[in-house]
Amino acid sequence: MEKLQSLRGMVDLLPEQMPLWQQIEATVRAQFERAALREIRTPLLEVTELFARGIGEATDVVGKEMYTFLDRGERSCTLRPEGTASVVRAALQHGLLSQGAQRLWYTGPMFRYERPQAGRQRQFHQVGIELLGFADTRSDAEAIAIAWDLLMELGVGGLALELNSLGDPADRAAYRTTLVSWLQQHQEQLDADSRERITTNPLRILDSKNTDTQAVLAEAPLLIDSLSEASRERFDAVLRSLDALEIPYQLNPRLVRGLDYYTHTAFEITSSQLGAQATVCGGGRYDGLIEQLGGPPTAAIGWAIGLERLVLLLAQAQAAGTVALAPPTPDVYLVSRGEQAERQALVLSRQLRQAGRSVELDLTRAAFGKQLKRADRSGAPWAVVIGEGEAEQGVVLLKDLRRGGNAAEAVSLEQRLSAEQLMKALSRS
Ligand code: ATP
Ligand code: MG
Repeated sequence: MEKLQSLRGMVDLLPEQMPLWQQIEATVRAQFERAALREIRTPLLEVTELFARGIGEATDVVGKEMYTFLDRGERSCTLRPEGTASVVRAALQHGLLSQGAQRLWYTGPMFRYERPQAGRQRQFHQVGIELLGFADTRSDAEAIAIAWDLLMELGVGGLALELNSLGDPADRAAYRTTLVSWLQQHQEQLDADSRERITTNPLRILDSKNTDTQAVLAEAPLLIDSLSEASRERFDAVLRSLDALEIPYQLNPRLVRGLDYYTHTAFEITSSQLGAQATVCGGGRYDGLIEQLGGPPTAAIGWAIGLERLVLLLAQAQAAGTVALAPPTPDVYLVSRGEQAERQALVLSRQLRQAGRSVELDLTRAAFGKQLKRADRSGAPWAVVIGEGEAEQGVVLLKDLRRGGNAAEAVSLEQRLSAEQLMKALSRS
């Protein structure tokens, strides 16, 4: 039979990769707890309209990248391409906002039909926060600081924060008019994609990855020059808060999110240690989104970090020796041979686990020597051996694998113990 393969862009995470993921997840959890954020989990599958309204029809994500299909009830469903729309939907559906402002975080797989490459997959993972119901400029700085400190704590190097203000919808409407007329005058110098966007999503053109288009855009009018006095003051207040937190930033007037519900602060955190996909974290304020999804007008800010890119960075750091990570090992490797002994080992492994020990039970029935080799390789500090003799006497042989080095030479470090004595000996170790 032909072997089956995973779908393109859908990536397996193998056991040897998991310690790094788990370490990241544990750090994320600990940092978020300290920031008084509460976890929320939402379904992977949502009605398509949620993303059409919550991300915007004119975006690449909704226009080109979504996994959308009809379910058996003929409803259009979409695998979530990001977390914010779902979190806002859930908050509205369950009335969380009527209980007050919400400080939330989430993590999990996201799905986008993109061209797979390093740091870009079709199923990938994000971790993100959403501060719903916060308008104060300190919440912009706090949200950024939580991302920045998390990346620092994890040991990501070469970090840079890029920042812009998109102003409020009126500022942007004014800018849009200015920009569109400028773009129309320079139409023939733009790439085909960008030309198409002049009518659909002109702000997104500023984000174009086409280098010729980028060169032309160097001369384009800037959003920051269209900001009202109030928006400019607001942005200055955010910058002062970041100064107080001593978080360095670079202003990037070309950093945009093309939709009307994105307001004021927009930011990205990049790492110079990533290749082409340098952005680890993207976020910003979205004061118009909650209303767009049927809720009351509510100020909010959030961000998302791509975990695969984080893993790439930390795997590099690990290889270079700047971040260390010990793989988890069992406390006890349990070796047995002979029918009665094997049964006792099965029972003992369960007792040890119930007593809080991690145990690997050798199920191979191989010769003692082979089982003991595997015990050594497992990294466990202790091997417990039950042979026919031990089984008969109701004892076990405890071997100290750490000091003995090679288990075969550890004979002097063995002791025969009853199950009860074993429990005691292990609880002292
Ligand atoms: P990009 O410009 O790299 O496509 P984006 O603007 O689409 O990024 P966001 O929607 O802001 O990204 O998502 C936040 C983060 O999620 C990104 O900075 C990145 O780290 C990660 N991310 C986005 N798409 C993918 C993907 N297809 N594979 C892996 N990670 C991704
Ligand atoms: Mg993208």
